[in-house]
Amino acid sequence: MRRPPGPRLRLCLLPSVWLGSVRLDGAGQIELDQLATSARPRGLPVLDTRERGTEFRELSVRSALNSAAATHMGFWSINPYIGCEFGCSYCYARDTHRYTVERHAARGGLVAERDAALLSKPAVDAFERHILVKRNLAAVLTRTLEPARVGSAAIVIGTATDPYQPAERRFAVTRSVLEALLPFHRLHLGIITKSPLITRDIPLLREISAKHRLKIHISLATCDGALLRRLEPRTPMPHARIRALAQLTAAGLDAGVLVAPIVPLLTDSRAGLGRLFAAARTANAARVNGGVLRLGPTARKKFLAQIAAEFPELLPRYEKHFSHSSSAEPAYRKALSRRLHRLQEEFGFPVGGMTSDVDAIKGTDAEADEQMALLI
Ligand code: SF4
Repeated sequence: MRRPPGPRLRLCLLPSVWLGSVRLDGAGQIELDQLATSARPRGLPVLDTRERGTEFRELSVRSALNSAAATHMGFWSINPYIGCEFGCSYCYARDTHRYTVERHAARGGLVAERDAALLSKPAVDAFERHILVKRNLAAVLTRTLEPARVGSAAIVIGTATDPYQPAERRFAVTRSVLEALLPFHRLHLGIITKSPLITRDIPLLREISAKHRLKIHISLATCDGALLRRLEPRTPMPHARIRALAQLTAAGLDAGVLVAPIVPLLTDSRAGLGRLFAAARTANAARVNGGVLRLGPTARKKFLAQIAAEFPELLPRYEKHFSHSSSAEPAYRKALSRRLHRLQEEFGFPVGGMTSDVDAIKGTDAEADEQMALLI
């Protein structure tokens, strides 16, 4: 029987629930219902495939923006793709892919033979091998964006998946979204990406920043290329991201570095972070902010397997800590915030953007080092 339009509710131990366009689940997660409905399921048509087996599938949506209230992120968000070929093991968006496919299947929206591969793959792998492309996103955005409703809150592109991941070179959905935003006035816009592909759109980004307030965040965990390869095997190398950052700032754009995620015991040292801040300063970054690693259930499994393979000596500590927590201890986060604030001061960047309770940790940097090393 088809689900009638309207609310459906899932609470702990009960099936999932949709409230209008918002899904709640027992773990307290919220997912927007962006999928278009059609009388005749057409599945998720394959748009292209790569030699190594990645598939790109078309996903029709009926809404473009995730509201701040629904995501609890304090801003609106747009994600042109679901899934990401960069495939970082700690990516928290893997669950979003699973929810979307499950939702499509529950509506009878998958075509059995053609979509068998999509359903048979473990969700954790499908995220990086079956990229869902929202080809109608710009048209939907043009039709549905109400600036009065958005108000002064920011609209951030790329909160769940990278808007300049390799698929963008082929499908240009992010570019079409930027073009759709251009005719509006005085929006607060943000873009988060790890990819130098963003420099392709510099002329368009300059037009946008002339009409809107635009902040670009280049996400980079470390300047150590060898270490980055062990953490993120398929993302662009640090020097390429820093070069892209320099090109963006040279074009007059407001661009900074988002040090994310900061991985405890691997990328959180003062020396390593200092090199990253220095590179950002050289590229004339407007700011450097950061955030510590968080691991949801799906990402935890994938990331711990990578720690086991690459950093086996750290596995017992990671297992012990992240088996009962998705984030670092509050005391660790405070010590890390203080370290980042001091680096911001030292390199002349605006101070802030991390947790606000940095003063709760007293003592010298050496003491903070010791505390951080003990807390994970
Ligand atoms: S680049 Fe970003 S969205 Fe893509 S897998 Fe890595 S963390 Fe996830």
